[in-house]
Amino acid sequence: MAQFDFDLFVIGAGSGGVRAARMAAALGKRVAIAEDRYLGGTCVNVGCVPKKLFVYGAHYGEDFHDAQAYGWQMDSKPRFNWEQLRDNKNKEINRLNSVYASLLENSGAQLIDGFARLLDAHSVAVNDKTYSAENILIATGGWPFVPDFPGSQHVITSNEVFYLEQFPEKALVVGGGYIAVEFAGILNGLGADTELIYRKDLFLRGFDRDVREFVRNEIRKKGVGLNFNTQVQSVEKLENGRFRAQLDTGQSIDADTILYATGRKPKTQGLGLADAGVATADDGTILVNDYFQTNVPSIYALGDVVGRLELTPVALAEGMALVKYLYQDSHSVLDYTGIPTAVFSQPSIGTVGLSEEQALEKGYKIAIYRSIFKALKHTLSGSEERCLMKMVVDQGTDKVLGVHMVGAEAGEIMQGIAVALKAGATKTVFDETIGIHPTSAEEFVTMREPVVP
Ligand code: FAD
Ligand code: NDP
Repeated sequence: MAQFDFDLFVIGAGSGGVRAARMAAALGKRVAIAEDRYLGGTCVNVGCVPKKLFVYGAHYGEDFHDAQAYGWQMDSKPRFNWEQLRDNKNKEINRLNSVYASLLENSGAQLIDGFARLLDAHSVAVNDKTYSAENILIATGGWPFVPDFPGSQHVITSNEVFYLEQFPEKALVVGGGYIAVEFAGILNGLGADTELIYRKDLFLRGFDRDVREFVRNEIRKKGVGLNFNTQVQSVEKLENGRFRAQLDTGQSIDADTILYATGRKPKTQGLGLADAGVATADDGTILVNDYFQTNVPSIYALGDVVGRLELTPVALAEGMALVKYLYQDSHSVLDYTGIPTAVFSQPSIGTVGLSEEQALEKGYKIAIYRSIFKALKHTLSGSEERCLMKMVVDQGTDKVLGVHMVGAEAGEIMQGIAVALKAGATKTVFDETIGIHPTSAEEFVTMREPVVP
């Protein structure tokens, strides 16, 4: 008789947990996966997927406008119906939840509905039942963080913005990371008068400086009010139902919705980490080695809860690497370099590899290629939107160290370029590649003269 109920007990059916559970079950392992909230986790329910649907929705506002120069007549002004977008999105998410349930069922993993708590190195409790497992995987993700200030109970986070009862006339977004910039664009594009507040001089810390400045200018052009070097001191509820944010500049902003996008924290409350003796870092992330093993040898953790790169494809890759390590004798360590990413702002950002600042910090002698242009579509549309493309090249080896873009479909374009960089492409290889005409992407193979040096 087996010593444990399961070979692997996964806590959390999000991006990383589902991938690990399905792969392990496919290898014939006895797998259980516990989920207390929603199948598919953050990405499917309150993250990537509904966010991207909203981004598509938000683009139609300017598409209707641009279409007129292409001969389309609008008999009446297009009107936006929030309830319809929200409810259609909810239907699609419900469909995806069922898809995840079938995927797990078909893989042979046992789905357990409820909040899981570690009891010790080999046991987990869910709904008053205790299960034993040879190995336990913590893939519990993260949760929005809102700083403590007077009136913080009046603000919402990304969890709630997907389900708003009413679409705001005036919206205030606080933060300067992915979520703040993406939702400022969504809210503005769907018709809310939108302002963003960020505590330092320029948002999107960590991205290439040119990208940050360019996207700031583009976002301003679209009508989002950007308030940098500004902090919210307090929020009060007004008699008219609105909320007043008092700023440290002495000014105040009244809004129907105040969205805080000030980062996320690992979701480990009540998980029993201390009972099982699992060590965490000061920021609450679970400490793991190269193979996602915690200080308790039978307990593993991956995804947002270990806080390396909080992206769905990273959680998926970690899940696959763990299963290969546990059950397929692999000792290859996941490579976190050259991971591409996109910010679905308007216009969007796509980026892979080193920023100019990171390349200089690492001591490279670099050449910079840069192009700013009006996309062909906008020669007729009249839109003021511009596109930025930038390449960071190591002068010593001619290797392309980083590629950055702000413009339509930047994420779609950057995925292919990430493959080229992973293969070690040099600038000469880019130059030898024939373009696809007429596209914006062809600019990446026709940038001949460096702007630096
Ligand atoms: P999660 O997907 O968060 O899954 C964790 C699961 O564990 C959850 O379902 C949770 O309910 C469950 N759980 C937690 N505790 C317990 C417990 N004790 N018992 C049982 N179940 C538990 N990434 C991208 O790559 N692209 C994007 O465009 C993108 N957009 C995003 C937009 C937003 C608004 C947000 C918030 C995130 C976005 N992300 C995006 C990040 C992405 O969603 C996460 O990196 C990814 O979901 C992490 O996967 P995970 O498996 O670590 O955790
Ligand atoms: P981020 O960590 O990206 O950004 C948090 C922002 O909040 C930063 O600008 C930070 O400022 C600011 N901030 C933090 N604390 C405070 C505070 N006390 N007061 C005021 N401002 C504060 O987090 P997000 O919540 O935007 O997103 C979480 C993660 O989810 C992202 O990092 C990303 O990995 C993932 N994600 C990915 C997406 C994608 O792939 N397109 C989309 C959305 C999320 P400062 O810069 O000064 O630290």
